[in-house]
Amino acid sequence: MKSILLLTAALAAFTAPAHAQTTPSAAALRVAADQIKTKSGPLTVQPITHGSVVLTWNGKTIYVDPYGGAEAYAGLAAPDVILITDIHGDHMDLKTLGGLAVGKALLVAPKAVADKLPPEYQAQVRILRNGQRLDTLGMRVAAIPMYNLPEAADAMHTKGRGNGYVLSLGGKNVYLSGDTEDIPEMRALKDIDVAFVCMNLPYTMDVNQAAQGVLAFKPGIVYPYHYRGQNGLSDVDSFKKTVNTANRKIDVRLRNWYPAAK
Ligand code: ZN
Repeated sequence: MKSILLLTAALAAFTAPAHAQTTPSAAALRVAADQIKTKSGPLTVQPITHGSVVLTWNGKTIYVDPYGGAEAYAGLAAPDVILITDIHGDHMDLKTLGGLAVGKALLVAPKAVADKLPPEYQAQVRILRNGQRLDTLGMRVAAIPMYNLPEAADAMHTKGRGNGYVLSLGGKNVYLSGDTEDIPEMRALKDIDVAFVCMNLPYTMDVNQAAQGVLAFKPGIVYPYHYRGQNGLSDVDSFKKTVNTANRKIDVRLRNWYPAAK
C-alpha cells in the first residue's frame, strides 16, 4: 500500500506544473462551501476572499465583488449575475473581471461603478441606485445604502455612491453589506436570513460596532467578511462573542476569507 501511495505521489509531482508543488492555487485553497435551505433547493455559499462570495441557487450563479484574481474562481460555474458594490479596487476589480467568463452575466452596479466600467461591459450593466430593485432569474435584488458615519463629503464611502444589496430568493433574504458602518438603514433591516457584514478599520467599522449593528437587525446567520484592515485581520472571534453574549440565537459563522494569506 505504502509503495502505491509513494508511486501516486511521485506521479502527481511529475505531472503537476512546477509551481504547484510549492504554491497551491487560489482555487485549491478555497474553504468549503456552506449550503443553506431555501424553498427552491439549497443556496450554496462559497467564500472567496475579502468582500467576495459566490452564491449558487436554483441553477444560477451569483458573483459578488469578484476580486483577487480570476484563479480564485477556477472550477466554479460562470456567473449569471455579478453584483458590484463600489468603485474601489477591492470591489470593482477590472483585472479579475477581465479573467472571468462574464459574457452571459448581468452586471448589477451603482451608477458610479457603471461610469467607470470599460465600454465592453456597458451592454450588460444594469444600474441600481440606493432604494431601487430588480427582479431577475427568479430572485429580487434590492440596492440599499452603504456609507461611513458621520456622513461627510470627504468620507471614504459617501452615501449614495455604493450599494449594499438584499437578495430575495426561495423565501430567504440575503444581505451583503458592502463597505459601511452600522447605518440606520442596516439597523432597520427586517427578516434577514443570511448576512455578510464588513468589519475593518479604517475603511468601515470595528468588530464591536459591527456586532451592535447585527444585534439591531438580528439576522438568522451572519458571516463576518471584508475583515482585513490596515493593521491586519479584525478580531472576528471577539465579534462572535459580543453578538452571542447578547443574542445566542444568531448563528455567527466564522470562515477563512483570506485562505491565501501567509
Ligand atoms: Zn472594501
